[in-house]
Amino acid sequence: MSKKLNLKYVFVVGGVMSGVGKGVAAASIGKILQSRNFNVTATKIDPYVNVDAGTMNPTEHGEVFVLDDGTECDQDMGNYERFLNCDLASTNYMTTGSVYQTVINRERNLGYGGKCVEVVPHIPLEILSRIDKAAAKNNADIIITEIGGTVGEYQNVLFLEAVRMLKLRKPNDVVLVLVSYLPLQGKEGELKTKPTQYAVRELNSAGLQPDIIIARASVPIDKKRKDKIAFNCSMREEDIISAPDVISIYEVPINFEKDNISEVILKKMSLRPRGRDLKEWGDLVHTIINTEKPVRIGIVGKYFNTGDFVLTDSYLSVLEAVKHAAFFIKRKPVIEWLNAEDFDTALNPMHKNNLKKLSEYNGIVIPGGFGERGIEGKIAVTRHCRENKIPYFGLCYGMQIAVIEFARSVLGWKQAHTTEINAETSHPVIDILPEQKKNLAEKNFGASMRLGAYPAVLKKGSIAYSAYKKYLISERHRHRYEVNPIYIEELEKKGLVFSGFSSDKKLMEIIELSHKEHPFFLGTQFHPEFKSRPLNPHPLFVEFIKTGIKH
Ligand code: GLN
Repeated sequence: MSKKLNLKYVFVVGGVMSGVGKGVAAASIGKILQSRNFNVTATKIDPYVNVDAGTMNPTEHGEVFVLDDGTECDQDMGNYERFLNCDLASTNYMTTGSVYQTVINRERNLGYGGKCVEVVPHIPLEILSRIDKAAAKNNADIIITEIGGTVGEYQNVLFLEAVRMLKLRKPNDVVLVLVSYLPLQGKEGELKTKPTQYAVRELNSAGLQPDIIIARASVPIDKKRKDKIAFNCSMREEDIISAPDVISIYEVPINFEKDNISEVILKKMSLRPRGRDLKEWGDLVHTIINTEKPVRIGIVGKYFNTGDFVLTDSYLSVLEAVKHAAFFIKRKPVIEWLNAEDFDTALNPMHKNNLKKLSEYNGIVIPGGFGERGIEGKIAVTRHCRENKIPYFGLCYGMQIAVIEFARSVLGWKQAHTTEINAETSHPVIDILPEQKKNLAEKNFGASMRLGAYPAVLKKGSIAYSAYKKYLISERHRHRYEVNPIYIEELEKKGLVFSGFSSDKKLMEIIELSHKEHPFFLGTQFHPEFKSRPLNPHPLFVEFIKTGIKH
């Protein structure tokens, strides 16, 4: 048996500015090293004090991603799962808040044996021990760790200190990658390297020298600029990797390999390459780039606006899941963001006209959400889709909204609602889980929803069953409210099909209308989007898009 290698560490940090694609760069490096037959896992470090991402508004920090074990985390974790095609766990995620919480609890339990507990080294040591635990749990040869934030800011200094300490201990096992940005000056101007040089100085002042620089820019970086960065930052030209803008994030691993990034990393870690297999991934990228025939999907949501900007990050996994399914059936996904409030006729009677535009789409998705804003607009959209046979896919809140709409329009319960919005409604068709009532009363909001993967049983002959092609599924949840069991029988009598439920039949997981009523009208209490992968698209998204194309 071959000797187990030393664990190798790749750290990814960002320079110059945020939003340059550090998460995708980290996930892509992981993918490439995986394609060279190493066992790879990834961890994400978020520098904020929140213990997890669960309490943050999506417009603040993008989508809250949920893992199988219920961890509410950063959307980059979704990128790792999608690129590496793996299921991660709480051990793969940490924040400043969670690290401090562990250290403080340990101190309270005399875990430091009466020593003075200090920011350095105890915080970096806890960070390193978590990285090692994540690697061990995933039996990894290489662990990629992305450090959130940008070098030079105060928030992530302790994480950089952890890298410094580790490099000191294991100089041959650690590779530090700086993802930096090169602005293009003027229309025909040149790529400017100075901000990257300053970012490297910042790293130097933290006691670190990057091993690799990923040069993000709108265009590929030429040899002259590579030489300039290499010379000024005491590096070799081959260590500077060109990372121009791409059509699809899934192109990134292929692009990095054009500059031989895997050879460079493996050499620095004294690892011998073990073959190379990026073929399936390459085929996917070929489909993405060369598919012309569109499928148009409208996503109706509310977390779009921050100041003058429109952010679609809040629904990142939904977006990716739609894309995966579209690529799978060789269609080009054309996704449009529709603001829920633009369909609320109480806000403006003219909004009625917007409903007509819904038939321009192959399908409409109503994703997850919380609270009152936009809900009447979403209900109006749902009704229009149901009555006009437009393919409809409701995710979590979207499923609850479909039940409310059905109860109002088909059963005539005009006031039917979720108690999240109207606690006094005559027909609380969506109601809070009994165990959740206590959490709300005690203001216990952190990590207290129904979270993570739960099994569900599917009904034979249903659309859900024909999509999954199996009876037992496991899907990820993030909600406090549920279909109220006292109304199930009456809803069923009028044609609402409960096609997925918990094995004790207490919790309803999927609703749908039969094929005879509607080509595709389906809602899930869980979030299928969290499990969709580019090479393994989610069966319900595939079924939705397939039907959408036919209609
Ligand atoms: N607000 C709803 C609930 O808490 C739906 C949540 C969601 O869409 N993730 O049950």
